[in-house]
Amino acid sequence: MAKILITSALPYVNNVPHLGNLIGCVLSADVFARFCRSRGYETLYICGTDEYGTATEAKAIEEGVSPREICDKYFKIHKSIYEWFNISTNRFGRTSDPIHVQHTQDIFLELHKNGMLLEKEVEQPYDQKVGLFLADRFVTGICPHCGSKDARADQCDKCGKLLTYSELGEPRSKLTGTTPVLKKTKHLFLDLAQSQPRLEKWIDGIEKEGRWSANTLAIARSWLKEGLQARSITRDLKWGVPVPLKGWENKVLYVWFDAPIGYVSITAGLTDKWKEWWLAGNEAPGSPSEVRHYEFIGKDNVPFHAIIFPAMLMGTRQPWTLPHYISSTEFLNYEDGKFSKSKGVGVFGNDAVESGIPADVWRYYLLATRPESADATFSWDEFGTRLNKELLGNWGNLVNRTLVFLTQNYEGVVPAPEELSEEDEAFLADVKIRLEREADLLEKVQIRAAVQEFMGAASAANAYLQAQAPWKSVRENPKRAAAALYCLANVIHDLAIASEPFLPSSSASVARQLGVKLGTWKDIGQRQVAGGHHIGPAEHLYKPLDTKALAGFREKYAGRQKKEGEEKGGKTPGSKTPGSSPASAPKKSAPAAPVAPLSLENLQLEVGLIESVERHPNAEKLYVEKIILANGEIRTICSGLVPYMKEEELEGRACVVVKNLKPAKLRGVESAGMILVAEEEGGKLELIMPPAPAGTPVQFKGITPNSQPPAISIDEFFTVQLTVKKGAVYANGHELLVDGHALKVQKVSEGKVS
Ligand SMILES: [Zn+2]
Repeated sequence: MAKILITSALPYVNNVPHLGNLIGCVLSADVFARFCRSRGYETLYICGTDEYGTATEAKAIEEGVSPREICDKYFKIHKSIYEWFNISTNRFGRTSDPIHVQHTQDIFLELHKNGMLLEKEVEQPYDQKVGLFLADRFVTGICPHCGSKDARADQCDKCGKLLTYSELGEPRSKLTGTTPVLKKTKHLFLDLAQSQPRLEKWIDGIEKEGRWSANTLAIARSWLKEGLQARSITRDLKWGVPVPLKGWENKVLYVWFDAPIGYVSITAGLTDKWKEWWLAGNEAPGSPSEVRHYEFIGKDNVPFHAIIFPAMLMGTRQPWTLPHYISSTEFLNYEDGKFSKSKGVGVFGNDAVESGIPADVWRYYLLATRPESADATFSWDEFGTRLNKELLGNWGNLVNRTLVFLTQNYEGVVPAPEELSEEDEAFLADVKIRLEREADLLEKVQIRAAVQEFMGAASAANAYLQAQAPWKSVRENPKRAAAALYCLANVIHDLAIASEPFLPSSSASVARQLGVKLGTWKDIGQRQVAGGHHIGPAEHLYKPLDTKALAGFREKYAGRQKKEGEEKGGKTPGSKTPGSSPASAPKKSAPAAPVAPLSLENLQLEVGLIESVERHPNAEKLYVEKIILANGEIRTICSGLVPYMKEEELEGRACVVVKNLKPAKLRGVESAGMILVAEEEGGKLELIMPPAPAGTPVQFKGITPNSQPPAISIDEFFTVQLTVKKGAVYANGHELLVDGHALKVQKVSEGKVS
């Protein structure tokens, strides 16, 4: 019997997975793993988080914590989301586990011993202030394509173009804001060209056996045709697997090198027999190896899994298990755009968990729209249709109508039929054939078509129920009704087994309702529900979603900017005077509509320098300040501080500016932003003066700022609780940080900020 080894691309740890990530790898692999177990194959499904590398270090700097803390936090988020979705990994591990370091270093040392590594000197940007080489993501500057000032040296987030360091205008270190210098450093490269002949032979064999899709083969062939280049495998970083060689102590292995070894190390963390899975030597065409490795990845990962990782394993000259089949999906888009955490667009794993919609409904929708051959789009309309018409209208209704009827008319006992008619036999045979087709499709990892085949079988059962009309025949022809209900109970039993890979919780519910233990694929067609069997109490499988509920979800996940755009026009800007103390603020003239709380990632605070202060021409209590911000930008801001501070107490001082406040006219002067003051109970007022130059961002501990925050209204700003505790400033309980240090005020020790 074949041993089936299943891996899902390891999700990168520093974010929350969205629905596209789920269907792309983890959920698709889960369906296949559940199917293989039901078929009786020895099955191992391995996944986990990919934790090392620059992106984690960057995130840690952003959130003001250590990389380990970032990984611990996001690992938990990933794990809990996948558990909620009923992902049945045998082990969900981590690449930051010590066992991973050991496996990665072992493979590295074998490659080194076999002469697969080259040493090269390269020039890399270096931050002299902190004494660190800078990965591309740590350098920002001006994009040569769109002029964005925040382009990273590897990619511009605004226009999406890939960049190199030399293309970037006015490069700055993200760590210190200084201009990096180019400095020489040495790196190790993996000489992939040495593996090319073996790879070609291996891929010829795969093509002959017809194992991979035409697309996957085409991508692999194009890489081989271009010839494999040496790839750098070391980095000047700290958060990674140390290079286990003398003279290389300050470098780590590049994350692309260690991440796929995670498949192996996570297996080794589960079982001592990991070699039976991973050193099965299936490279030769038609090799007798019993292990078949199925990889589930996104389409952008094909070259890596089809070429680079196998080339790396071949370089060790060990009989590694190579991929038998690669299932790659296209992308899932959201409504009319892309998923974006920072813009609040789309449904992310945590949103699904909190939606109140059961995991099986999400699973069904994602599997039925799985982007197998082209990009697919999530749409709430289609989500509603698939739930209401297919899951509930077809499968749920079949179960409910049949079992409730058995309870009400047969006291919950499946009748024993005297004889089955030709129609009954034809119905049972038809369902059996459909489910065999479903199994054939699942063997070939054609999940979407398999889902359709299952739904087709449920439709056939509904048609049979309708034609048999046991609600009539139970009185007119009881023998007929008994035979029909016996057949239906058995078909529902089989359908529960056949849908378990897609809908595990629903199948468990159907088994409870039938009063049976859910069997495996070999039980299908065996008429396991005998006459005289007592069924269990009925449960509702699914609840419908009406158009109003769907519209609510659509609006909720449409993105913050879009919602703000829709609000424009009707709503007037808040009437509270920016920069004023609460005591002096004019009262709101009319109660406004409730404002959604502003999430801190969208509150942009920056250190400003007050260049000049004047009295407002038309308002007694207002000053008009000119304030210098990042890149020399000068803003005019009005603040109601006249009763509290003299001009000379403000002029030339540093301050904290709410930078992304929507501009508003205050008595004829446009004010763009506000400055923050601390206020002690009883009225002592103090300008918050950070010890940092103008343009320095003010951050919230534990919060990753949105790189392009939307403009916010004054009412949204006031939903944030800004307080002073023991002289330090907090927003919603998150400490404010400047250059990584707590922002302190001098006189006020307890109070609020506005
Ligand atoms: Zn750009």
